[in-house]
Amino acid sequence: MTSLWSRIEPVLGRVQKPARYIGGEDGALRPTHGPGRVSWLLIYPDTYEVGLPNQGLQILYELLNERDDSAAERAYAPWGDMEAEMRRAGIPLFSVDTHRPAGSFDVLAFNLSAELVYTNVLNCIDLAGVPVHAERRRPEDPIVVGGGHCSFNPEPLADFVDAFVIGDGEEVVGEITEVLAAWKRSGRSEGSRQGALRELASVPGVYVPSLYEVCYDGPSLVSVTPRYADVPAVVEKRTISDLAAWPYPRRQLVPLTEVVHDRLNVEIFRGCTRGCRFCQAGMITRPVRERPAEQVMDMVRRGLERTGYDEVSLTSLSSADYSGIEEVVSGTIDDPACGGQVSVSLPSLRVDAFTVGVAAQIQKVRRTGLTFAPEGGTWRMRQVINKLIREEDLYSAVEAAFSQGWRRVKLYFLTGLPTETDEDTLGIAELARNCAALGRAHTSGASVTASVGGFVPKPQTPFQWFGQASVEELGRRVGLLRDATRRERGVQLRWHDPRATLAEGIASRGDRRVGAVIEDVWRRGGTFQEWSEHFDLGRWADAMAAAGLSIDWYVHRDRGEDEVLPWDHISAGLHRDFLWQEWQDALRAAGTPDCRWTPCYDCGACTGYGLEHVVGSSVPPAGGSQGTGQDLESGGAVPVSLRLSVAGRSA
Ligand code: SF4
Repeated sequence: MTSLWSRIEPVLGRVQKPARYIGGEDGALRPTHGPGRVSWLLIYPDTYEVGLPNQGLQILYELLNERDDSAAERAYAPWGDMEAEMRRAGIPLFSVDTHRPAGSFDVLAFNLSAELVYTNVLNCIDLAGVPVHAERRRPEDPIVVGGGHCSFNPEPLADFVDAFVIGDGEEVVGEITEVLAAWKRSGRSEGSRQGALRELASVPGVYVPSLYEVCYDGPSLVSVTPRYADVPAVVEKRTISDLAAWPYPRRQLVPLTEVVHDRLNVEIFRGCTRGCRFCQAGMITRPVRERPAEQVMDMVRRGLERTGYDEVSLTSLSSADYSGIEEVVSGTIDDPACGGQVSVSLPSLRVDAFTVGVAAQIQKVRRTGLTFAPEGGTWRMRQVINKLIREEDLYSAVEAAFSQGWRRVKLYFLTGLPTETDEDTLGIAELARNCAALGRAHTSGASVTASVGGFVPKPQTPFQWFGQASVEELGRRVGLLRDATRRERGVQLRWHDPRATLAEGIASRGDRRVGAVIEDVWRRGGTFQEWSEHFDLGRWADAMAAAGLSIDWYVHRDRGEDEVLPWDHISAGLHRDFLWQEWQDALRAAGTPDCRWTPCYDCGACTGYGLEHVVGSSVPPAGGSQGTGQDLESGGAVPVSLRLSVAGRSA
């Protein structure tokens, strides 16, 4: 494998942001390659600025380079200008660490965190000089692997990816490496690629789509069944039970150019039991597994010292729910080793005044804006989606924010939700208007931004059976809100393009036939579909028509209880009847409180991980809701212990 640097360097002067392609960041590794090592190229299929901070990729990068049988490098999708230069000069996709050609690696591993990057996956495989169709790959071609949240419905990419990792990657990448090391030692002869894929299918948590037969009856999916007796009928996700055993990344990358989330990131827990019915991340990452507070503080201290950052983000799906939040926040701020000038951020605030109090403690200087996510405009709507926030919770939180010096509050909402009425939609405007009025009592410059996204039902959630709203209907709802907020002082409305919501809907719940659509969109030039300047719904509509697939059938219809879903052979650990019951509860606007404060619902997530049910010592929020007004007045009821314990150790 030789470096392509001498061919890459001359073109960098002609492209935007050449720092995207040079590597050499603080924290970058110099991997040791050799015939006895399996070489992994970890690819984030979006720009360097979006991909570099990704923690999952950085964790695997370190783990694979710590092993003596593997080596790992990184690559990101080249922006259009760079791609044009590369194709003109015959430069293939390359790693940013040592600028090796992607096609010379043993594994191309894609991080799949959003469906609209799928066309970039195909583009990267093609740029690597590897056949985009898995069935056309030769013995010398890399094994193409996909992982991340989107792999919980892998079918739209099944024709292009050799193997998917379902769930946490920390342990399974080592097991995959061992299978592929043996394959390398065998000489990768003609026909052995298929044998290696059969071996990979026996690794728990690995799905090899080519080993499954898919049957249809007209538009309906009838079954996805293994072709061989030793291939699992259902692939169960991998779950690491003890986050403390994985204190990674130890050496977070510090970029040479501006990136999103440019700060130290420390993961404080994985999983979420709040049970928001629209939230795929919350459902597929159960159960909750906390990192011990001492380890968090140690990772923060070491990370700040090494990187020179003055800001740390404590990451999780609901960081204010972390049982050690006060200890970690005050410990970090007061720690002289952290220089006394450290800013802490919680990316996912709970909607209550206690959380604002924590935010006030940690953002002493930069009080620019606070973001809350009520998601639904009325209490009825929030019961449907199980985001059990009462209006008084929101108003208390917003009042607390403005009274403590913030001038801007951002509110996130979804529209196109199941059972949503115009009254629910207009409730968004009402909440924003009332929040702005609360702000004006404290500052004349108070502003409230209501950011509205179109809802896309996701696999492995209670809303997986719901028919997504049409572009026209989403547009009509946005129009209602525009009319309702046009003359409101201090209220700004932002909304997501409903056309992109439709394309995401096609890719999210598609079956294997949607692969042809993704390929067609890519061949029509549709890369970087998450970027508005590159997105064109016409390409998706034309590709669906060319494939003979109905948008209505794939996106807009409700599914029945007995319908075979394209991801039924992939298990996130959740019982199907739990998800169905949640769907039925949603339709009658019945909430399901967080299982940290109630008896277990037996969703299935804790089974088999050595986790047991432990009753929390904190009182449940009044009315069984999350973060009620009573919590605020009593100083906030942050759960002080979790209901789960790991192998006898308090999680
Ligand atoms: S199995 Fe029970 S305790 Fe565990 S996440 Fe599911 S509902 Fe909660």
